[in-house]
Amino acid sequence: MDRPTLEETIALLEATLDATHDAILVVDLKRRVIHSNRQFLEMFRLTREDIDAGGLDAVLRRMSEELDDRNGTLVATQDLWTDPASRRLDVLRFKDGRIIERYVAPHQIGSRVVGRVASFRDVGSTVRTAESLEQHRAFLEQAQTVAHIGSWVAELDGSGNVGWSAETHRIFGVPAGQFDGTSEAFFELVHTDDREAVRAAGAAAIERDRAFDIEHRIVRPDGSVRWVQECGSLQRDATGNAVRMIGTVQDITERRQLEDQLRQAQKMEAIGRLAGGIAHDLNNALTTMAGYAELALGELQSDHVARADVEEIRRAAERAGSVTRQLLAFSRKQLLQPRVFNLNGTVAAISRLLSRLLGPDVRVQTALADAQLDVLGDPGQIEQAIINLAVNARDAMPAGGQLTMSTAIEPVDDEYARTHLPITPGTFIVLRVADTGHGMSRETQARVFEPFFTTKDAGKGTGLGLSMVYGTMKQIGGFIFVDSELGRGTTFRLLFPPAAGQEAPAEGLPPAQARTERPRGHETLLIAEDEPAVRNLVASALRNDGYKLLLAASADEALAIADAHRGAIDLLLTDAMMPGRTGVELAAILVDRYPHLRVIIMSGYTEETLSLSERTTRVAMLQKPFTPRDLRRRIREAIDR
Ligand code: ADP
Ligand code: MG
Repeated sequence: MDRPTLEETIALLEATLDATHDAILVVDLKRRVIHSNRQFLEMFRLTREDIDAGGLDAVLRRMSEELDDRNGTLVATQDLWTDPASRRLDVLRFKDGRIIERYVAPHQIGSRVVGRVASFRDVGSTVRTAESLEQHRAFLEQAQTVAHIGSWVAELDGSGNVGWSAETHRIFGVPAGQFDGTSEAFFELVHTDDREAVRAAGAAAIERDRAFDIEHRIVRPDGSVRWVQECGSLQRDATGNAVRMIGTVQDITERRQLEDQLRQAQKMEAIGRLAGGIAHDLNNALTTMAGYAELALGELQSDHVARADVEEIRRAAERAGSVTRQLLAFSRKQLLQPRVFNLNGTVAAISRLLSRLLGPDVRVQTALADAQLDVLGDPGQIEQAIINLAVNARDAMPAGGQLTMSTAIEPVDDEYARTHLPITPGTFIVLRVADTGHGMSRETQARVFEPFFTTKDAGKGTGLGLSMVYGTMKQIGGFIFVDSELGRGTTFRLLFPPAAGQEAPAEGLPPAQARTERPRGHETLLIAEDEPAVRNLVASALRNDGYKLLLAASADEALAIADAHRGAIDLLLTDAMMPGRTGVELAAILVDRYPHLRVIIMSGYTEETLSLSERTTRVAMLQKPFTPRDLRRRIREAIDR
């Protein structure tokens, strides 16, 4: 074959250059354009004539016109074209959106540099794909942040490599630079007690195709312990080998806390029902014991040998009665005598009493809110609650210390309400009772409100003090929280719903007055009580007082007796809870039927049916256990009102 002529060679090279995908521009060291291919002319919308007439300057001018400002001085840089040896790769952005990669390099013949060659390649679609991938990744990151769900990838090829998303870094409390991306680094963060379980779950997923779904604790570098839930799914290769696991991680600490609180609340509810049931039955027996003891005392001469013994029986029954009362308080079944009162007044009054009660080693301080703090509740119960808290505080400060009671009006926001079940957002009146005593452990704090929970020696503690406070606060729609640390003292926080806007019940019953003379009457009393011992006690206690007594063992029997009775019925004395129709229902029927009828409901126990609004001035409550003396006095008060 003949050697090609020079013209043929040049034509071949030019055709080759025209056939390449890239735009190409060749200049010599004097900045003369030696060659430009067809793609170059098209890319910069130039003609061969433009270049023949204007040379490199015409090219650069056109480039400046076509490129957008983001490229700065890239184009104008002169040494790009005159510096014989430099190589340079950069990206040019055009006003019309095109993205061009430019490569400028020396043009060499042998080892001699004779000029510069620039090649241009449209990389728009590649760059745009990368950009949209990046945007996609940013969206995903953002979605993870919003959902608080992080993601991770664990390679199972033996490398132990682990990759985390930004949210995963946040959940673990480890900044991106500080995680070395290995499964060992991950396990370091898993709570030591949970590592085994996490490893086992991973192994079960890989070897036995189990779902990887596990809740475990992690310990962040700052020492805080969080609960996380992790779910993962395996990727296997064509032969079925697990190659990697991809998963999510979610911080569920808050949810776990809520579940704990809910469990705790349900446990207290169950204990409350149990305690309430026991107390209810015990109350009937105690009422009978104390009552008959008192009746017997009335019959015994003051020098009778049996008197001291019967006194003992009565005192024992009263002591037992105080236990059942506290149990009822806990189970929220106590009979409250609620009215609106100023909490500041109660706290101020009780602080004077406490100074004496707690002894000289305990300083009692108060810090009262500068406002009238009206709450709805039974002030007597609240006083008792404060005393219980104060006595505990004293026990926690054997060497003395300080007891501080402070009041305030505080909002409970959504966030707080969400994390402190079952509290609801709103404004509360808050009483804090704080001591500087030995404090208590987390385990103790979890149980302090349970009845009979005590850490004190036998005979010293009953474990009923705080359960009574708990029940009292619950019953008035309030809350109690404890905050304590070993060696750092304890603060109890009592939240009262403000009285404003609440249905105030009928005027509270007048305070008990000691009456010396035995009240007598002539009125007709209808008595309904299913428990024979209590019914007989009531009859015995009232037998000699001049009343006409109609006795019934159930509500239906009472209604039948009332129907058959000619003449007035002045007062209904009924047990609250009876099989069949309750005393409350009986009272409701008879109150309608007899416009002047007064009612006393005997109970150890308030049920939901006995809501405050039902307590009109015609209906009074008598708490079991009661003594015959209480009974007589309350009957007279009810009739004479
Ligand atoms: P009791 O006083 O009869 O033990 P409580 O129900 O009043 O029963 O208290 C239960 C337990 O709660 C106490 O035994 C004690 O362990 C703990 N406790 C209560 N108040 C405090 C306090 N202020 N400081 C430390 N521990 C307390
Ligand atoms: Mg106590």
